[in-house]
Amino acid sequence: GNIQNDSDLMHIIHVTPEMAPIAKVGGLGDVVTGLARACLSRGHTVYIMLPFYECIQKQHINDLALLITFNAYHDGNWGQSVYGGAYNELEAYLFFNRASLEWMQVTGTQPDIIHVHEWQTGALPLLYWDMYHNLSLKKPRIVLTIHNMEHYGECRIEQLSKSGVDGSIYATEDKAIDERTIGHNPERLSLLKGGIVYSNAVVTVSPTYLNETLCSGWLSSTLIRNRDKYFGVLNGIDTAMWNPATDAFLPAKFHAQKPEGKSSCKYYVQRGLGLVSTDTLAGPHVSDITDRVPLVVCISRLVAQKGLHLITSAIKHVEELGGQMVVLGKASDGRLEREFEGLANLHNQGPSIRILLMYSEELSHMLYAAADMVLVPSIYEPCGLAQMIGMRYGAVPIVRKTGGLADTVFDMDDQSNHEISNGFVFEGIDEGSLNWALDRAFAYYREKADEWNSIVERVMEIDNSWNNSAGKYIEIYQSVRVRL
Ligand code: ADP
Repeated sequence: GNIQNDSDLMHIIHVTPEMAPIAKVGGLGDVVTGLARACLSRGHTVYIMLPFYECIQKQHINDLALLITFNAYHDGNWGQSVYGGAYNELEAYLFFNRASLEWMQVTGTQPDIIHVHEWQTGALPLLYWDMYHNLSLKKPRIVLTIHNMEHYGECRIEQLSKSGVDGSIYATEDKAIDERTIGHNPERLSLLKGGIVYSNAVVTVSPTYLNETLCSGWLSSTLIRNRDKYFGVLNGIDTAMWNPATDAFLPAKFHAQKPEGKSSCKYYVQRGLGLVSTDTLAGPHVSDITDRVPLVVCISRLVAQKGLHLITSAIKHVEELGGQMVVLGKASDGRLEREFEGLANLHNQGPSIRILLMYSEELSHMLYAAADMVLVPSIYEPCGLAQMIGMRYGAVPIVRKTGGLADTVFDMDDQSNHEISNGFVFEGIDEGSLNWALDRAFAYYREKADEWNSIVERVMEIDNSWNNSAGKYIEIYQSVRVRL
């Protein structure tokens, strides 16, 4: 029902390093797919340009056909690929940026918007304004989304030159130089910074993260200079994939108007993981008893950004409080893996804690459905999906007040937010701050059951779908497009 009048319909081309589900590492892949679908359903035309990574499984793609071959420039040659021989990730992405524009030029495809993502496509805006806009591409305007500001796309001047522009003209403070390297030999460029400077609009994935990035980090001065075209738009979640009313992974389905299935999911998971004592199993009111033990889940990549020491403290404190906790996570390196394996060995035979060190889509669905509370104690979090998914599955979020977590979770005890309060929020990065949030959540759960049930229903009804956010992106597209 959102189709606008024809003159407002746009052609959008995403140029992106990831797209779910065929080429996905993290949230970026989901965002591209979710946003593209939402724009399509509003009547816009959307194309997605993605590198043909070797790991992409061809049998998972329907109707894959070769439409055109053409040459693109890299390092003095016109060729079809830089792969093979000495493969360099950065140069491969530079080639991909140039080849994407070359394709538009060769085929005469002029979208209203070219939407680029992260440093991997940060060189595209600069190649566009330097070269292709002076050739035949007059219409497109460029939007960049930054999903995580930690990756700058460091690039040597002569590497950028390989894409066919004179890299040295970008080595100034107002253009693409990485300010941290000024005066060093060699100085470096940042493709992310170049992308910010040369895009018509820049978006990051939550309003709070936008403010945080204006206040700290070496890119803040660039972002402040470009403040007028810098926007914060929350990511949405895919509400078809994440739907407890239809989710094929769940032993029982449920939704806000019919929440009973949730306790079956909880009991199923507790039994499956051995979190139900054998005494209880023998008794007559099995699910009633375990149902009153609060179950906290934490589903996360195990990297420093996610607040690992807080995850560890939570395990300890939940046990002290007589609750249960399940961590599902994959460690990013060997040292962390061994540390968490140590914790798993310590706890996994006990009655209340399970630490599962793997990546499992299926388990993640079951755990969100089983959970009374979902913990997201990140040190920083550009947007965060776990708290939004958890809420849709009736798990009350306990989060650190940072980035997108601060924009989606509002504390139950904060009087100024009472109508929208939906969880428990703490600010500090110390154990005490976290414990205080857990204490309050457990107290609500145990002492105010009616109120707890109404929070659970409320969080399940919150709309974090792409519906809202796609509308905001479309407004941004409309504000920069030109009509030729
Ligand atoms: P990030 O993109 O930084 O990893 P987000 O919160 O934006 O963080 O997205 C994380 C997504 O990955 C969520 O959908 C979460 O459920 C999922 N996830 C993280 N770790 C695992 C895991 N070990 N198994 C299954 N899903 C996971």
